[in-house]
Amino acid sequence: METRVETVRSTKHAVVVGAGIGGLTTALALGRTGWRVTVLEQAAAVGEVGAGIQLSPNGVRVLSSLGVLDRLLPTTFRPEAVEMRLGRSGRHVFRIELAETAVRRWGAPYLHVHRADLLDALLAATTGSGLDITLRTGSAVRSYEQDREQVTAVLDSGRRVSGSLLVGADGIHSVIRGQMLGTGEPRFTGHVAWRVTVPIERLGRDAPPPTACLWVGEGRHAITYRLRGGALANLVAVVERDAWRGESWTERGTREDALADFAGWHPMITTVLREADAHYRWALFDREPLENWTDGRVALLGDACHPMLPYLAQGATMAIEDAQVLADRLEAHRLEAQGLEAQGLERPGDVPRALRSYAATRRPRTARVQAGSRQNGQRFHQGGRFAHLPLWFLGKLAPRVYHRRLDWL
Ligand code: FAD
Repeated sequence: METRVETVRSTKHAVVVGAGIGGLTTALALGRTGWRVTVLEQAAAVGEVGAGIQLSPNGVRVLSSLGVLDRLLPTTFRPEAVEMRLGRSGRHVFRIELAETAVRRWGAPYLHVHRADLLDALLAATTGSGLDITLRTGSAVRSYEQDREQVTAVLDSGRRVSGSLLVGADGIHSVIRGQMLGTGEPRFTGHVAWRVTVPIERLGRDAPPPTACLWVGEGRHAITYRLRGGALANLVAVVERDAWRGESWTERGTREDALADFAGWHPMITTVLREADAHYRWALFDREPLENWTDGRVALLGDACHPMLPYLAQGATMAIEDAQVLADRLEAHRLEAQGLEAQGLERPGDVPRALRSYAATRRPRTARVQAGSRQNGQRFHQGGRFAHLPLWFLGKLAPRVYHRRLDWL
């Protein structure tokens, strides 16, 4: 519930719209560089559909620098390797060792984490560490207004919250992006994902391996991995559909429909689907890279500006990186302006300039990841072709490609 709404004219007050992974990381990164932050979240409580997320070392490094990793680590799972298998037979296509390699090569572990645990760790870090961050739930933002001095979030309730900058971290259906760019809804990609979690003890010998395991097939694929120290199996299973007819972009499906989509697949997939209590079905949307992410004192961040297919497992990680770059750019411009002022020179408007610099840094990188995620979708759904390639060839090629990709990230 919204307990208190204020109008603040402080030069160091940031308004963040959305308390997802992107919004909370932004609040934390800004809070740690001296900003007072108000986070406005439309939901009555911060939370997510129970499902997992893969965090590659580039995201883990940011969480570590923000002091979140220590809280998070006890709830995570470290996969031994990344594997690819054929969906029906389970035949191995390749395996790339990850547990030791990740820390040695990329300076941080590759982790699997429950989204609820990541949000809890971010919340604990934002609210429990003496930073000046306030979270207001039940606060849906309708629009923003701005002048030279400040920007104001206008809530559905009619109330207003002002600061010197506003971050639209309000997800794929962002109202902030809609107002800023007038862009329509994102594109339905023709892919729909089943997402389930199951206690590992229910799965017996059909428990998925302790790896990030990609199962490929014709027109569909799945990924299995473990969460919470290995106690929970997570499955994302994707099929192609001509259209998404649901009213919402996520809805509850049935066990029967999920099993029918993966009939004849390996028992590690079908057993997870059979044993799951809840079967969530997500329509997968993305959009072409946007030319512009800022409008004066307003910037977009995370899925609001670069929604992507989850096939490089980078959507949340990119939002986490955005948050750090945004805070860094604001701090760099503040220091530069301070230096100029000390020399008696004119102080430029630091917030809009810093936001433009943030967007210019992030846009090329996130556009490349958006494109790579799409390409992977096409590769994963031609799974039958892998069966005809010599395993020794794939075994040699795959680690090189995979390592190069994570080197770049
Ligand atoms: P969201 O998580 O969408 O948060 C937006 C928040 O804003 C929500 O809390 C919402 O309630 C709030 N909000 C919306 N509108 C308003 C408003 N008007 N006023 C106030 N609040 C508002 N990424 C990875 O890095 N690794 C993975 O392994 C991975 N797997 C995925 C698997 C699937 C099947 C899917 C669909 C995605 C996956 N992703 C993964 C992507 C990742 O989930 C998203 O990129 C990430 O959650 C985006 O975070 P966000 O904070 O930008 O947006």
